[in-house]
This record gives sequence, C-alpha cells and structure tokens, in this order.
Amino acid sequence: MESSFPTLGILGGGQLGKMMAAEAVRMSVRPKLLSPKDAGPMRPYAGAQVGDWTDPEILRPFLSACDVITVESEWAPAGAAAEVLPEATDLWPSTTTLSLIKDKGVQKQHLSDAGCPVPRFARCNTTEEALEAAETVGYPVVLKQCRGAYDGYGNATVQSAEGLREAWPDLAAEDGLLVENFADFNRELAVQVARRPGGEQVVYPVAYTEQRAHRCHAVEVPADIDEDVAAKARQVAQDAVEAVEGVGLIAVELFEMPDGELLVNELAPRPHNTGHYSIEGSHTSQFENHVRAILDWPLGSPSLRQPVAVMVNILGRREGTPPRTTGLPRALAVDGASVHIYGKPDVRPGRKMGHVTALGDDRANVRKRAEMAASAIEL
Ligand code: ATP
Ligand code: MG
Repeated sequence: MESSFPTLGILGGGQLGKMMAAEAVRMSVRPKLLSPKDAGPMRPYAGAQVGDWTDPEILRPFLSACDVITVESEWAPAGAAAEVLPEATDLWPSTTTLSLIKDKGVQKQHLSDAGCPVPRFARCNTTEEALEAAETVGYPVVLKQCRGAYDGYGNATVQSAEGLREAWPDLAAEDGLLVENFADFNRELAVQVARRPGGEQVVYPVAYTEQRAHRCHAVEVPADIDEDVAAKARQVAQDAVEAVEGVGLIAVELFEMPDGELLVNELAPRPHNTGHYSIEGSHTSQFENHVRAILDWPLGSPSLRQPVAVMVNILGRREGTPPRTTGLPRALAVDGASVHIYGKPDVRPGRKMGHVTALGDDRANVRKRAEMAASAIEL
C-alpha cells in the first residue's frame, strides 16, 4: 500500500456502510461506497455512487480507485468484484469466507463439519425430505430460507408435520429450506471477533441480545452470565471465525442452552447490529476494528469504557416516509444517550431506522435511559 491514507471501497450504502465509512473518515481513510440503489444512509459521503454493482464496467473503475474492498452485507456481489479486482486491491472478507456464510445451509454444514456446536439441522429440497428430517431433528423445527433472509423474514417455526406441510409452499425456495431443531435457549448471545489476514485477532465482550418478534430489540454488554459461560462463548466464537477463515469483523450469534451448552446460530461476515454498542461503549468500535483488520493494521482494544453498555434499536412504526418528529431533541435530552439515525428515506413497521446507546455502572438504569431515548423517536 503506497499511501498511509488509503481508499476503502464499500459495496453497500446502508447503515453498516455509513458507520464503517464514519470510522474510516476519522482516520483519514477515504471511503467510496457503491450501491445499486440510492440508499439514504450513504448520501452524506462525497464518495457515494449509485450503479449496477454487478456490471464489470461499473466495478472496474470503482475497484481500481480503492486499496481495499469490503462488503456491507454477505449478499453484495463480491464474486463479480473478485473477477475484475485489480492486483493491487485487496478484498476482505474473502470470497471463500463469503460463500461459506451467505447460504445458511452451507454455513451450518461447514460449521458442523468443523466441529462447531450447532442445533440439529438438515438441508432439505422437498417437503417429503423435510418431513423425514423433522422427525430426526425433533419438533418444533425452524424452517429457514438459505439465502437472502434477514431480520427473521425468511423463517417459520412449526410444531408438527401438519404445520410443516402448510408452511413449506410459501417459504421454500428452489433449493429448499434448512430444517433446524428449535433450540429452547435461556438467552441469545453474540460475540464480535476482529481478525487480520495473518490471524491476529481481538474478541469483544459477550453481548446479550434480546429479540422481539424475531428481531433484535436491545443488546446489553457484558451479558449477565457466569464467567465460565462467557469464556466458552468467546472460544466458540473464535473457533467459528477460524473455521470460515474470517478476516475483518465477524459477528457470531449464539444460543445459551439451559445446560450451559453454547450453540452457534449463525455468523455475519461484517459488523453487526449486536455490536453497535461498541461505537460509544468500547475503546475501539466494531466498525473501526473492521477497517483496521481489512487494512491489516494493528487492532484496537475491544474492552468497555464503562461497566455496562446498552443499545436499543429504533424500529419503524409506520409505512411511508419518515414523519417530521420532535423525537430527536427529546431523545437527546435523556442523560448520556447517544442517538444514531440512519437516514433511510422510507419507513416500514419493524425496519431498523436507528439506534440509541447508553453507558453507565448500573445495568437497570442504563437500560432505562437507552429505552427512554429510543422510544422518544417515533418514525
Ligand atoms: P438476523 O438478520 O436478525 O440475524 P435472520 O433472519 O438471519 O436474523 P436467524 O438469525 O436465523 O435469522 O433467526 C432469527 C431469530 O429467530 C434468532 O435470533 C432466534 O431468536 C430465532 N431462531 C432462529 N433459529 C432458531 C432455532 N433453531 N431455535 C430457536 N430460535 C431460533
Ligand atoms: Mg440472525
């Protein structure tokens, strides 16, 4: 790399790209974003471009202006980028890592083959296969689309063969579905790992993630769990990241089972909603460590600045364009609330529109402040 102030290309223009770019700007790494649509979150950046990101004629000039390329999401066309990638430009995470993660069925199989603990599962192409598999993995089962699903949209939990038969036609894609045993967990946890190409890595504290209607509502860090469970969660996360040779920031979603066992739900090869607290909460945020890791720069400490950090998502409450709201000043009036609004031009019920982070000593008090500020913003 010639200059110590390189250019970072991001395939994506949503909130993750926006927050990655913000950390890049702070270190004078120049962000360039490419998105297939005029995504609101990327608009503040001069280096934002809208274009067909699968088109080699668009990709070539974009890539050749960058020292390193990364993706905002596992579905960004990294394969198309790799085909026309200039020799001097790096692409992280690698297309190998991405292809091991972006299909949930391939991912589960790979993690399981590598010895990582996962719920019992089977990849099924037909209803008959699924009915048979469900008997083996045990009801209730979660049916999951293997590609393109997020925020629980492509999932359904069924209790019986009858339920499975009913759900299959609406949900099943051409390549079928993943059939997974419903894990009756105590808690959902998440661990972020930032890893450089040579393997040097840092591991974030274990986060407790609270889902409502299959969607992340709040994240508390550190999770209120025994130290031995936390240590095991961090180890399982590191093993999973190793198994996919992850480079950059990788988030590992875990289920903590009643017997203390930890199962890997899924990996995200990028900064993740469960790590947003780290922007204010950690000495080095997940976004900064992602940028550092893919540039093969020294990683920063992931430890917490204060004993507890809580993040609460701001979800859309209606359909349409975001209304003018007095909510932001009201949220900012909450002591110590850091408010992030992503700038999406349309709102949908349940859509992630922003988040709030609060820090402090007392878990209940920090949680209360984060909830208060987040609920003040009505979008
Ligand atoms: P996101 O984009 O929010 O990470 P996703 O659409 O990729 O979600 P999953 O993470 O597979 O979907 O599932 C969403 C949620 O559904 C999980 O966080 C968990 O609460 C629940 N869930 C998924 N799989 C199982 C399972 N096998 N047993 C119990 N609950 C599950
Ligand atoms: Mg998930």
